[in-house]
Amino acid sequence: MSFFVEVIIPLSLPKTFTYKVSETEYNFITKGMRIAVPFGKNKIYTALAIDLHQNAPTLYEAKEIHQILDDKPIVNEWQINHWFWIASYYMCNIGDVYRGALPSALLLESETIISQQKDTVVNETELSDDEFLIYEALQHQSSLKVQNIMDILNKKTVLPVIQKLIHKKIITLEEEIQEVYKPKLIRYIRLHQQYQSEESLIALLDNLKSDKRKNLVLQYFQLQAKERKPISVRQLTETAQTSAAIIKALIEKGIFEEYYIQEDRVNFDKNKTENQLTLSEAQQKAHDEIEHVFTEKEVCLLHGVTSSGKTEIYTKLIEQYIAVGKQVLYLLPEIALTTQLVSRLTQHFGNKVAVFHSKYSNNERVEVWNHVLQQSEKAQIVIGARSALFLPFSNLGLIIVDEEHEPTFKQQDPAPRYHARDAAIVLAHAHQSKVLLGSATPSIETYYNATSGKFGLVTLKERFGKVQMPEIELVDLKDSYFRKRMKGHFSLTLIEQITEAFANNEQVILFQNRRGFSPVLECMTCGHVPQCPQCDVSLTYHKYKNQLRCHYCGYNMAKPSNCHACSSVDLETKGFGTEQIELELAELFPNKNIKRMDQDTTRGKYSFEKIIDGFKNREIDVLVGTQMLAKGLDFDNVSLVGIMNADNMLYHPDFRAFERSYQMMTQVAGRSGRSEKRGKVVIQTYNPLHNIIQQVTHNDYQGMYKEQLYERKIYYYPPFYRLIKLTLKHRDFDKLKEGSMWLYQVLQQNLSIPVLGPEEPAISRIRNEYIRTIMIKIPSETPLQGTKKTIQKVLNSFEMVSQYRAIKVTVNVDFY
Ligand code: ADP
Ligand code: ZN
Ligand code: ZN
Repeated sequence: MSFFVEVIIPLSLPKTFTYKVSETEYNFITKGMRIAVPFGKNKIYTALAIDLHQNAPTLYEAKEIHQILDDKPIVNEWQINHWFWIASYYMCNIGDVYRGALPSALLLESETIISQQKDTVVNETELSDDEFLIYEALQHQSSLKVQNIMDILNKKTVLPVIQKLIHKKIITLEEEIQEVYKPKLIRYIRLHQQYQSEESLIALLDNLKSDKRKNLVLQYFQLQAKERKPISVRQLTETAQTSAAIIKALIEKGIFEEYYIQEDRVNFDKNKTENQLTLSEAQQKAHDEIEHVFTEKEVCLLHGVTSSGKTEIYTKLIEQYIAVGKQVLYLLPEIALTTQLVSRLTQHFGNKVAVFHSKYSNNERVEVWNHVLQQSEKAQIVIGARSALFLPFSNLGLIIVDEEHEPTFKQQDPAPRYHARDAAIVLAHAHQSKVLLGSATPSIETYYNATSGKFGLVTLKERFGKVQMPEIELVDLKDSYFRKRMKGHFSLTLIEQITEAFANNEQVILFQNRRGFSPVLECMTCGHVPQCPQCDVSLTYHKYKNQLRCHYCGYNMAKPSNCHACSSVDLETKGFGTEQIELELAELFPNKNIKRMDQDTTRGKYSFEKIIDGFKNREIDVLVGTQMLAKGLDFDNVSLVGIMNADNMLYHPDFRAFERSYQMMTQVAGRSGRSEKRGKVVIQTYNPLHNIIQQVTHNDYQGMYKEQLYERKIYYYPPFYRLIKLTLKHRDFDKLKEGSMWLYQVLQQNLSIPVLGPEEPAISRIRNEYIRTIMIKIPSETPLQGTKKTIQKVLNSFEMVSQYRAIKVTVNVDFY
């Protein structure tokens, strides 16, 4: 009798594969264990066992496995089922899902490149012979392929020993860049507890002989009264013009005491002790309603205005789930937001909070994976970006999807192109757990589900602490330019408001939905605009580097001094981005500390956190940024938000442009006035009467929703239609044109629903590949499975046409 194991291989292949095993192996292996298998010519991959059987494959001779890599499963059945669901729903290969789901350190293969981990001290005597040989080889070569190690050790079964060395932190996968961020510790100073009362203070001042010391105490008081936040030693030294020696003397006398706060942990508000969380009446009510919804429904939307304290409600709910031993998954749209949230949640839950996302090192990710697998307390609450959905949960109680409207929950490239919110709902259903979606600006789809009874709906209309919603002022740019009430891109109104905020020691956020200095360089003589040679887009001018850059492929060149078309030197910059705002602002307010936050300034692992920390600590006065600013950041001293140009968001050729504009503006506006004082928002626009602008101004989500829903209905968009977008790419323009037409026609013949295209997208060439798209619109009442099957069949026959074989087709289900 023969024995076989069925495995998934981490390659973009649609099928599972059958390998031969011995009877002993057959009895040992369980589903969810990893197995090293040979595949293709001399390659070895880490496959996943999903079944054991005795049916020999009919199409090929089953090869033998190399080695079993685990003694217990590291993937559970819920995961395997969920991954197959993702592959089927999002029309991709199971190998794609498996590859995307596992941390790459768990997926070693013959091509993986490893190198020595720099900062580890190695005790050579503790290494096994094989470990030592690998270690020694890495002293002579900076990196090795797993394949090389097979040669060095002269055997094929090397993955476990490599895994051990990774675990011992002696080696690491090569693609990792190690970057360590040590939050700065800041030295603060305060009066000793015993001088809190007025009498004791007066007595103290009477007792102090030295004028210098007396003066210092008084200065401290003034500073404290003015700033109402912790006073750093540096700040006191500067303001009081005093020496460190005097401060030291007062500390020694027990009049002052010093203390240190990690830069990102500063809590300015003494009255907020986050570990004893009491919900406001409105929060409590919302919380109770959510609990009630969960007795009837699996999914609940919490629609709470910005700064209504949604995080606190989540926290209270999490408390209940972990009290009964359940695991909780907290999904965030943007890994950059995790630091703020992690410090808020660890204050409350201590070390039960684990973080999982792609900027974490492989070791860290494997660690979290194992903690979740073992149901360890250390990962009872997992905060993560969308990929945290793939962790081996087996006791999941609650999934929170915060800022559920954010498009970054949809993975674009590579496959699986899944939507983490939707995939989370499916996962929760299998675990019989609950899902809480939270947003101040829910997506149209979610709000539709919440009002049609599919999900529960809980609304929270007031901000925490009864802070009022910010006051929004519109500035008509046409009128302002006409009446010369502009300086550069700043209206006088905005300048006045900024000045006032500074006068009150408050901070400002300016939002510009474009990075770079100025999108394009235009020739004033012939109108030529430099284009990317590889893509169908204009190059963007970046003043800081004096370069023209392509935002699609990274192509760049020095700024030309004359026009490449007509040689004229009369070149001008058109439009404006964050960099230009930053420069103009520096001219208007030369003494202020201005920082920019966009993709260009936040590339490093922790650069985002550094900016956020600096702003939170009030070292930065103004933050100029792109949509990164619109994602759930909580600052307590921002009294003004300026939206530099509302119009460029509105006119994107995309059916979600209006919804997105509403969300973006409302979210950025929501950063203003989050504690005590009412905040202010200035929106500069050429279209003050545009419906979306009006709806933002009046905080009219309902109005926006009704109008957009109507448009979605009459133009055949979600939630009434499901979209499947096919993207075809090829370097040969004519072949692509022909092929996409063929595919379009065959689809149309086989489907009785709208098929649109083939269309040349707005950017029709990227990295020298031409692009065409076909959009399929599936009415919600049409059976989805059958339609997808038909589409897949057509795609399969497309692949069989030899002259089109080189055309790459990607499928994007529920296109975002
Ligand atoms: P949202 O996520 O709804 O925009 P947050 O959860 O960030 O709002 O809350 C806004 C601010 O109010 C935060 O600074 C938070 O610490 C504070 N806050 C909210 N609820 C409470 C509460 N119950 N007790 C103390 N502070 C709270
Ligand atoms: Zn020219
Ligand atoms: Zn390009």
